[in-house]
Amino acid sequence: MRVLVTGGAGFLGSHLCDRLIEDGHEVICLDNFFTGNKRNIAHLMGRADFELMRHDVIDPFKAEVDRIYNLACPASPPHYQYNAIKTIKTSVMGAIHCLGLAKRTRARVFQASTSEVYGDPAEHPQRESYWGNVNPVGIRSCYDEGKRCAETLFMDYHRQNGVDIRIARIFNTYGPRMHPDDGRVVSNFIVQALRGEELTIYGDGTQTRSFCHVDDLIEGFVRLMEHPSLTMPVNLGNPGEFTMLELAERVLGKIGGKSKITHLPLPGDDPRQRRPDISLAGGELGWEPKVALDDGLDRTIDYFRKLLAGIPK
Ligand code: NAD
Ligand code: UDP
Repeated sequence: MRVLVTGGAGFLGSHLCDRLIEDGHEVICLDNFFTGNKRNIAHLMGRADFELMRHDVIDPFKAEVDRIYNLACPASPPHYQYNAIKTIKTSVMGAIHCLGLAKRTRARVFQASTSEVYGDPAEHPQRESYWGNVNPVGIRSCYDEGKRCAETLFMDYHRQNGVDIRIARIFNTYGPRMHPDDGRVVSNFIVQALRGEELTIYGDGTQTRSFCHVDDLIEGFVRLMEHPSLTMPVNLGNPGEFTMLELAERVLGKIGGKSKITHLPLPGDDPRQRRPDISLAGGELGWEPKVALDDGLDRTIDYFRKLLAGIPK
């Protein structure tokens, strides 16, 4: 098949491009390089089955494709808050353009949605049936509400125009190719520890997240996309739940050195807890994460150790 991946030069997108090429597909990677990097896809450049389009999803685009994965959107809070208006435009216009393209080409289209649609959840763990607890006017709203609106658009194009959709609600995912200055917690802690700097815990560190290794997530993406009929949103994530203090201690335990923990103010609307209920993905896709946090951290630390060796401090 010919597959379009928007945001294909980013962390998740580049792993997805690799997987799709491995599976024998032709890949068109579309990216504006806001948070993505050519380094992530350099190894694919020049291949006959890989094409790179520098383009912004807020402007329309055309391609003759069988599948569209819509991943274009900054994902880390500092990046998506850097230009909040651009973030919401990216989610909403990007979804409209992908859905318009899917309608015309009859391609199946996949939305990279997020656990942020649940906001600061009052239900725990989060099931797909939970409608969420989201502040519409806070500093995370450009991202959370943008992604919620994109889900609405996906469902309405499906109901109204018969577009064949898939929606993954992705929970915190980490691994090689995260940007070293990405700002998300796993990459921050690892990079800080490797540089011998203080590990920055926001707030008291008792908030929780569930961390999924990228290899597990990409397997879930492909299974969901190729499911014959599952058009409702599906949680994809690792149900292991950790406080940020526990995460910091694990990273310190692995890297050693002289780094200490420091506490910084908790940003506004930071969710207190998060853990996916993945029984829908388990039942429908036969999917469950296989990479334990310890193993995934080792692989990610290994990546950053090599990367930082080549980057001046
Ligand atoms: P990332 O920042 O590494 O990748 C996003 C990619 O989209 C980058 O390559 C960036 O340059 C590109 N992009 C951003 N705005 C664009 C635009 N207007 N036009 C074209 N390209 C644009 O982040 P990621 O972690 O790889 O996330 C990928 C997708 O998955 C995002 O949609 C994100 O919301 C979603 N997601 C990720 C996680 C996670 O934990 N990694 C969790 C939930 C949802
Ligand atoms: N966090 C932290 N230190 C950091 C970066 C993040 O303590 O250097 C916290 C953040 O406040 C949040 C959790 O880690 O409670 C996860 O943050 P991240 O930005 O990775 O993802 P999200 O909040 O979007 O789930």
